[in-house]
Amino acid sequence: MEAFKCPSCGLTTWGNLKFCPHCGAALNVTCEACGYSLRYFMAVGMNFCPKCGGKMKTESKSKHHEKKS
Ligand SMILES: [Zn+2]
Ligand SMILES: [Zn+2]
Repeated sequence: MEAFKCPSCGLTTWGNLKFCPHCGAALNVTCEACGYSLRYFMAVGMNFCPKCGGKMKTESKSKHHEKKS
């Protein structure tokens, strides 16, 4: 199982989590243009998408994180 540490709080997490269950930090980095996403630890220093050259950004815990219910 894929295990890694949260970049923010250091909690060991695993699996396909998008956000740290402890501190809410984003664990994925996503291309704004094509939607390509990587685990944050694979994207260290990666500012542009390897697929389309678009800008990569951390999926942020947007303030408008609304529940779709
Ligand atoms: Zn965390
Ligand atoms: Zn892209």
